[in-house]
Amino acid sequence: MDMWYTEKHSENVGIAMKVSKTLFSGKSEFQQLDIVETLEYGRMMLLDGLVMVTERDEFVYHDMIVHPALFTHPAPKKVLVIGGGDGGTIREIVKHPSVEEAVLCEIDGLVIDKSVELLPSMACEIDGSNPKVKLHVDDGIAYIREHRGEFDVILVDSTDPIGPAVGLFEEDFYRTVFAALKEDGIMVAQSESPFYHPEIQKKMYANLRSVFPIVEMYQAFIPTYPSGLWSFAFASKRHHPVRDFDRERAAKRGFRTRYYNEDLHLGAFMLPTFARENIAEEQPEP
Ligand code: SAM
Repeated sequence: MDMWYTEKHSENVGIAMKVSKTLFSGKSEFQQLDIVETLEYGRMMLLDGLVMVTERDEFVYHDMIVHPALFTHPAPKKVLVIGGGDGGTIREIVKHPSVEEAVLCEIDGLVIDKSVELLPSMACEIDGSNPKVKLHVDDGIAYIREHRGEFDVILVDSTDPIGPAVGLFEEDFYRTVFAALKEDGIMVAQSESPFYHPEIQKKMYANLRSVFPIVEMYQAFIPTYPSGLWSFAFASKRHHPVRDFDRERAAKRGFRTRYYNEDLHLGAFMLPTFARENIAEEQPEP
């Protein structure tokens, strides 16, 4: 008998993947966690039944949540990840030689433990082996209230705006992020699919614009996320991701990235019209 995993992206559309084995299935105090073996995407983590990461396409998401910010900031030293318990975001951060401390604040310790055990290609830097990496099992919303003016970059690598992540999409949270950043700090947050989530995006970007002087969206192709067209919000106190981008510095980065590169950095901020309209400050004529 074939076993198939299905994630519904809307009432009548979804993605289906053939699964060969369940490696872990359990419930933490926050969510259901499953890690399965798929036939074509390697190992896959699900939280409350939704795709978080797969071994085959996680490089896209983790390159793109990290490198645009760390190559726009002139010298990122202290970086915070909120969420990100699979470890892929931390793995990309520590490739930057300027980074002296990478802090992970993940609310669910079970996600970290099972990622270290079953997703070593992603969790390789959160297994206690890297002295630059500090782990906190805590609500990111509470954690950053205690850390004002501490971070050059804050990356919000959260689940969708449900459950413990709802607050991570609200204006109050963005104000505490702003306060936790240094005077030229940058925040990036995954900002859902322009194709399926225009309403979430409209609200999220309006919230960001009421806090940050520079707010831009950029895109990436992630086959296992709804519609494949994914986005990230870039919110900055001073440095602009296109105008202030040092292409030469990114070109001489000295480490391999399978999705990000110095030309794609600029291309990712060039949006399709409908995505631009999702977050336009004045809504277009119908
Ligand atoms: N790349 C994935 C995506 O885009 O959906 C996210 C991966 S990561 C596994 C998401 C993590 O955010 C989860 O492990 C979840 O426990 C964590 N999370 C959700 N709300 C949080 C909060 N308020 N503070 C800290 N971590 C949180």
